[in-house]
Amino acid sequence: MTRLDPNHAIFPGSFDPPTLGHLDLIERALERFELVTLAVGAHPTKSGLLDPDEREQLLRTMTAELASSERLEFMQLSGLLVDGCRDSNAGTVLRGLRNGTDFEYESQMAATNRSMEPGVDTLYLGASPGHAHLSSTLVRQIFAMGGDITELVPETVASFLASRR
Ligand code: ADP
Repeated sequence: MTRLDPNHAIFPGSFDPPTLGHLDLIERALERFELVTLAVGAHPTKSGLLDPDEREQLLRTMTAELASSERLEFMQLSGLLVDGCRDSNAGTVLRGLRNGTDFEYESQMAATNRSMEPGVDTLYLGASPGHAHLSSTLVRQIFAMGGDITELVPETVASFLASRR
């Protein structure tokens, strides 16, 4: 059995749309891991704004200027996260924690994933100061009501969404 690489982190999310909170986590992940895969997943219980190709493309453009962007990879997840880990050889799942609600959900997911694939462990990064309120859901709601989202998402994401109005 090949050991999944603990220095390769997979950061899965809906990223619908990617926010400054996501970007912050990506930058911090690149400081800690040799390779970081951004995995765009479908979230069955959330109503979406962007399709997976658009979300992946936005992640690519908003990270293109990062100093370590050559250590970033991108994928789309259509099945189980543990299968994505096996396919990409990533031994670490990275997730963000903003509050107790995130923790409740994430701890359940981490335990479930580990029971399906013991070679995978989940690590968390807490939201940076000033970022704990940021969520894609909030951005979608403000956008739908015609509000200003420029303080919540990277510039490339804001201009893409503006072009869709
Ligand atoms: P999902 O639908 O899988 O929760 P999201 O795109 O909403 O996908 O979030 C992906 C990950 O990013 C989650 O672990 C979430 O907790 C984390 N995250 C989102 N926004 C922030 C933020 N502002 N600060 C820290 N982590 C965040």
